Amino acid sequence: MDMREFVDSAKRMFDPDMKRAEKKKNGTILVVDDELANRLKLAAILEEEYDILFAENGRQAMDLLMHRSEEITLVILDLRMPVMGGTRVLREMKARETLRKVPVLVVTADKNSEVECLRLGAIDFLTKPYPADEVIKARVAHAIALSRDRKIIDFSKIDALTGLYKRDYFFQSAAKIDQQNPEKNMDAVVVDIHHFHVINELYGKLYGDKVLRQLGAKLTAKAKQFNGIVCRKEADSFFAYWPHRENYLHVLNDLSFGGGDDTSVHLRMGIYENVERSLDIERRFDRAQSAANKVRGTLYKAVGIYTHDMHEKEILEDKLTEEFPRALQDNQFIVYYQPKFDIQQEKPVLYGAEALVRWIHPTKGLVGPNVFIPLFEKNGLITELDRYVWRQTAAQLRAWKESYGIDFRISVNVSREDMGDPQLTGFFERLLDEYKLEHGDMVLEITESAYAGDSKRVISTVSRLREMGYLAEMDDFGTGYSSLNMLHQMPIDALKLDMQFIRDAFRPGSDTRLIQLVIEIAKYLNIPVIAEGVETYEQVSVLKDLGCDYVQGYYFSKPIPAHEFEHFLEERKKIDKQLHLKQEDERIECNV
Ligand code: C2E
Ligand code: CA
Ligand code: CA
Repeated sequence: MDMREFVDSAKRMFDPDMKRAEKKKNGTILVVDDELANRLKLAAILEEEYDILFAENGRQAMDLLMHRSEEITLVILDLRMPVMGGTRVLREMKARETLRKVPVLVVTADKNSEVECLRLGAIDFLTKPYPADEVIKARVAHAIALSRDRKIIDFSKIDALTGLYKRDYFFQSAAKIDQQNPEKNMDAVVVDIHHFHVINELYGKLYGDKVLRQLGAKLTAKAKQFNGIVCRKEADSFFAYWPHRENYLHVLNDLSFGGGDDTSVHLRMGIYENVERSLDIERRFDRAQSAANKVRGTLYKAVGIYTHDMHEKEILEDKLTEEFPRALQDNQFIVYYQPKFDIQQEKPVLYGAEALVRWIHPTKGLVGPNVFIPLFEKNGLITELDRYVWRQTAAQLRAWKESYGIDFRISVNVSREDMGDPQLTGFFERLLDEYKLEHGDMVLEITESAYAGDSKRVISTVSRLREMGYLAEMDDFGTGYSSLNMLHQMPIDALKLDMQFIRDAFRPGSDTRLIQLVIEIAKYLNIPVIAEGVETYEQVSVLKDLGCDYVQGYYFSKPIPAHEFEHFLEERKKIDKQLHLKQEDERIECNV
């Protein structure tokens, strides 16, 4: 020890101010415990490095916190105390803007309350009986360091769950990479998890989060290796941007993880290679996304590369989007109708129809909805198109009611995007009013996948519509989102089996047990079943035997323009008339 050090340490021993000033470096700890012995013990361990404040119960602690929150670096909080317990302190701190960020280390003898405390915002916990002094010191230092990091991390840039960049910041960083490497060939990569929502449903959100963190860590390591960057775009979708790679199967292999068979995680990748620099960053990732979408549903092919065909499709989609307003104005969209038949009668009887839109394009001719509906769902134009279709349908229904006078309904497709529209119910109400229709005349087909996303909101919207008297059919049932055991919670009036069901069941070597099961459950729940995509007589008769109520498909008719549809209405009118005459005859016979 040289002279100066000696003088300093001597001064410290005698000068309390200097002593405090030095201690301040590590901060002030508020120890909250009702037992004096505990307070003294903690103080003895920590006072060398920190200033210590004491409180005997939650109330005193809150008083101190309210007045001196600025200077308190950490709270060590006992859970069990008279007057006001620790959980309550945590709650009150969480409710106050100024106290929310003060880190709390909880002391508990009860292992079970850990989770609760962490949820309430505690940064860590110490268990009683107390561990060794060194362990306590380390935990305290760690908690303080952690809370400092928390404050430094900018949550507008960083995704809290995975610690990865968020999308916007990622795009900014990608632009910087471009600037610094103007000549380099770069790849835009999208990675997501096959059927992630199923993992969430089956194993719970905590497990799902763990999977996301694991994938995030793997991707971060890869990005480091490749000199690139990654982000979590949303949910289970990740973006990466790095110099061009040749073999993505290897990359996929390195990224893959997951335990045994049913818990293993299948990844899916879409790559837009050697990006065009003139294209803005978002568009580059749209392309990678299209490539990823191409491999959707194919379990054995998990890497998709953006190709020339996709490029052509993109050009077509841009064109259709641009032409949409004009097309709507010029009535290029025409509604076709496909009949639905009641097959549980002696002979099939026309029951209703589904309205399906077509685009009669001035140069391309008839364009099917599979080309433009997914596009319009993506870019939001669907809500406008749907309203147009609903209006056309309502007008048609009014006209047919007048000329045929039969009991008849038409269903319209309601997209997932429509479900978020607060004016949805208002629009339907005005439409019915304008065309003097009943609520049950227009049936709403809501695709099963709409229930999968924000299911609570969709369920409440559908419930409200049904309370008003509308009928709702669950469309495309069986495409993999909702499970059978959720059916009873769904507010629906009919179940529309997806045509894949029918296809699978009638494939050689297959059987109809699954359809049978669905029909049985629906029967039990008192929900009629509609089979879609029915193409053969065999299918109709088997479905009839299984108790399926209604059928729609090429066996009866493709979707056709309104004037062609009218012969079905004529037929139906005849049947009604015969039935009426027969009933009259029976009445007369009875009376005789
Ligand atoms: P979707 O609602 O599942 O409609 C049934 C589709 O199956 C129709 O295709 C129909 O033509 C086809 N289909 C019916 N029976 C058979 C059959 O026996 N065999 C085969 N192979 N196919 C059959 P479409 O008209 O091309 O419509 C495709 C999808 O586009 C519809 O699927 C629906 O999701 C959407 N869509 C059509 N019109 C509209 C609309 O106005 N609004 C909205 N939001 N979506 C619409
Ligand atoms: Ca439909
Ligand atoms: Ca369908």
